[in-house]
Amino acid sequence: MSSRNEYLFEQSQHVIPGGVNSPVRAFKSVGGTPLFFKRGQGAYVWDADDKRYIDYVGSWGPMIVGHCHPAVVTAVQDAAAQGLGFGAPTAAELEMAELLCKLLPSIEMVRLVSSGTEATMTAIRLARGFTGRSRIIKFEGCYHGHSDGLLVKAGSGALTFGQPSSSGVPAEIAALTTVLDYNDVAGLERTFAAIGNEIAAVIVEPVAGNMNLIIPKREFLDALRALCTKHGAVFILDEVMTGFRVSLQGAQGHYGIKPDLVTLGKVMGGGLPAAAFGGRRDIMQCLAPLGAVYQAGTLSGNPVAVAAGLATLELVQQPDFYEHLSVLARQLTEGLEQAAKQHGVDFSAQSIGGMFGLYFRATPPTSYAEVMTCDKEAFNRFFHAMLDQGIYMAPSAFEAGFVSSAHTSADIAQTIAIASKIFEAW
Ligand SMILES: *Cc1c(COP(=O)(O)O)cnc(C)c1O
Repeated sequence: MSSRNEYLFEQSQHVIPGGVNSPVRAFKSVGGTPLFFKRGQGAYVWDADDKRYIDYVGSWGPMIVGHCHPAVVTAVQDAAAQGLGFGAPTAAELEMAELLCKLLPSIEMVRLVSSGTEATMTAIRLARGFTGRSRIIKFEGCYHGHSDGLLVKAGSGALTFGQPSSSGVPAEIAALTTVLDYNDVAGLERTFAAIGNEIAAVIVEPVAGNMNLIIPKREFLDALRALCTKHGAVFILDEVMTGFRVSLQGAQGHYGIKPDLVTLGKVMGGGLPAAAFGGRRDIMQCLAPLGAVYQAGTLSGNPVAVAAGLATLELVQQPDFYEHLSVLARQLTEGLEQAAKQHGVDFSAQSIGGMFGLYFRATPPTSYAEVMTCDKEAFNRFFHAMLDQGIYMAPSAFEAGFVSSAHTSADIAQTIAIASKIFEAW
């Protein structure tokens, strides 16, 4: 074994399926040996072989203030010293709930959970309980966690019946999910015209960040809101990734849209397991113990996780936080585009707030089908060349990237310089 990374990966595969606890970590898409990380500080992470990288994954989004921000670490240490968990209410949960209601006006009541998957799964159940309907709509390429009804792809032939995208999901459950094309207003209108009165909820990523990055069309967001209202369906905005990432008010604030329910995770947990769903009071009041829709969690509102989240949300409320973050992301994407152009590489990039997309095609995609036309082999080559030079990008051509407030213009410039050399030798 030449490296500790390789040794750890080899050993892990004996006791953990694929050697990882979440599939994308296995580097299957890009090939090679996944990195095992041992430390993070600010914009940097160190792998098991003590090699340093500029980190553009940020734990898939939560690390918006950088790794080990002293205010977050202190808050976690203080909370931990008071007790790791009680399974009973705490004042910190009230503080978090009040803060979420204040920052996101669409949230009148909120419940804390431990993962984005739980948040979306329960938001769907709640929408079904509230409407008394069973069917839901999602969009191809949007990811909403791994509950059965959301691991569904478009069915062939029939317009409305989805098919499981994972083994183990019963076809009967997948059939309740209709999968449509992102940004396709006509498809949405057709479906609502056909089965609008059976639809409990539409769930969507307001900026799609799990099929690389796709910016929503204005008319798509407006149609979602209008059709849900017209047909009595619950409009669920999945802001697990975009919440406190695109702006302080999330994508809903950025675009000025008002969902019925919102799901949050990632940044709001500051790196620890905290997530939430919330929204209209009349809907949220259907939840147990008030109402008949059941939901629970041993670790829900865990005091240490809530402390990390509160400390992080305190930092992102500082003046100009998102302006600064947006500038960094834009510097990166514009610099990379320019370098690619200079060396004649088919490449485009864009950003919104603190998230960005890199595409090995001439223009940013607007649909799942267009994302699929990106040159995956080119991305994989780029990924490994960057990794070799100490730049850690998401290990898949179909993931968004993230900057943090700990990144400096010098980090961005160094990243662009390295990419430029790679494009030069392309
Ligand atoms: C990450 C993500 C989820 C799932 O959250 P987990 O905490 O990984 O369960 C759901 N929706 C979106 C949009 C996400 O990006």
